[in-house]
Amino acid sequence: MPSQPVVLIPGDGIGPEVTEAVLHVLDAAGADIAWQRHQAGLAALDAGLDVLPAQTLDAIRDVGVALKGPCTTPVGKGFSSINVQLRKTLNLYAAVRPVRCLDGVATRFDDVDLIVVRENTEGLYSGVENEITPGVVTSLKVATEIGCTRIARWAFEYARRRGRRKITVFHKANIMKLTDGLFLRCAESMHDEFADIEFESMIIDAGCMKLVQDPTRFDMLLLENLYGDVVSDLCAGLVGGLGVVPGANLGAEQAVFEAVHGSAPDIAGKGLANPLALLMTAVMMLNHLADRLHDDAHRACGARVRDAYNRALAEGMLTRDLGGSLDTTDFARAVADRVE
Ligand code: ATP
Repeated sequence: MPSQPVVLIPGDGIGPEVTEAVLHVLDAAGADIAWQRHQAGLAALDAGLDVLPAQTLDAIRDVGVALKGPCTTPVGKGFSSINVQLRKTLNLYAAVRPVRCLDGVATRFDDVDLIVVRENTEGLYSGVENEITPGVVTSLKVATEIGCTRIARWAFEYARRRGRRKITVFHKANIMKLTDGLFLRCAESMHDEFADIEFESMIIDAGCMKLVQDPTRFDMLLLENLYGDVVSDLCAGLVGGLGVVPGANLGAEQAVFEAVHGSAPDIAGKGLANPLALLMTAVMMLNHLADRLHDDAHRACGARVRDAYNRALAEGMLTRDLGGSLDTTDFARAVADRVE
């Protein structure tokens, strides 16, 4: 059997360093993948290409799966966010971010196990902003019944497939009666088809307070685009920060796996980036390949990687963001050495 092709986008900022670290561990675990390297973001511009080159999009469409580092969108030059463009162009409407405590990573709570599901294509990310008159600007929040229903269905199906018990929608339908009202209504209607899953809704401000008081009372969160962005980072903070939370952007046809964190230009090139978030993301990707191809070798490889990073963390092998002293490559080496 030929190796499974996967598009690899190293990205910008800390992207290339964490990507190399992840490749090192995946090689050690014997991942059977033929990487197809493509560019996006500043790296693409530097190579004389568009910020989101057509060949990168074509490769993802062709192969169906990509592992992506964070991309920087050049500020103030009229570019809209590359990450947002990619999600919209490929219709990757569901962002899923598992947020779990890890042994060896000290945090305020011991038993956080949350799945954040974010609608990835609508809301305030429509990119429709206008200057009405100097000093008065607007931004359009878009919610469609089709978009709200499909993310609600995705979340409930995921819950049933993965044996999750409850979905909580965070919203502000008391103020944004039409847009958030539609999001909430679509989720409520979907619950009628999934009576085995508990369902509740909360006004987002109260929900955030409850999250930081006791995250263990939540199981899955379902949020529109902007709330999902903000609450994902909040949840990352509950389990050790942006260095430990993986993510996937999923559509009907393609899947792009990327960690929650951005390109973190403040720490780029200094060996300070934690590659664990992208490594965990790669494990999600291997599980996705296993499901899609009915090939348990990818799942077994993912399990070897997961066991190896869990062993490394439990032995106190930590990067600086987690209070340790290892740099990006030291940590990757420590994990690779523990692959069994
Ligand atoms: P974006 O808007 O692209 O999502 P952001 O504003 O959320 O980006 P990030 O780039 O994600 O910002 O990073 C925020 C801060 O968190 C960084 O400045 C960095 O200090 C820290 N950080 C992010 N990712 C990591 C990582 N993998 N390892 C260590 N620190 C990180």
